[in-house]
Amino acid sequence: MSNDIHDSVYDAIEVRIDALRSGAPASGAETGARTQDDVDAELGKLEADKAHLLDHWKTHDGVVGATPPSAVRARACGQAQPCPHVLGLAQTYGVV
Ligand SMILES: [Zn+2]
Repeated sequence: MSNDIHDSVYDAIEVRIDALRSGAPASGAETGARTQDDVDAELGKLEADKAHLLDHWKTHDGVVGATPPSAVRARACGQAQPCPHVLGLAQTYGVV
């Protein structure tokens, strides 16, 4: 069940966000050409993709790593899952 495509895409996005945030300090040297603006832009895109994924979540509304834990923030889009939106994200993040 943990191999579910939605979970996999979600995890892939989270990993990238964590990596960006942990590498975000403006030390410059170790991140090479990546500037804070680049990091912010990438984080914004990842957050947008995560929100998009959560709007196309499986076939039921769900709780996904939410804060507070009881909050329902993932919603089904009503199409058969995985829907084209989710499959597109899966390709973007190399999950398929
Ligand atoms: Zn959808």
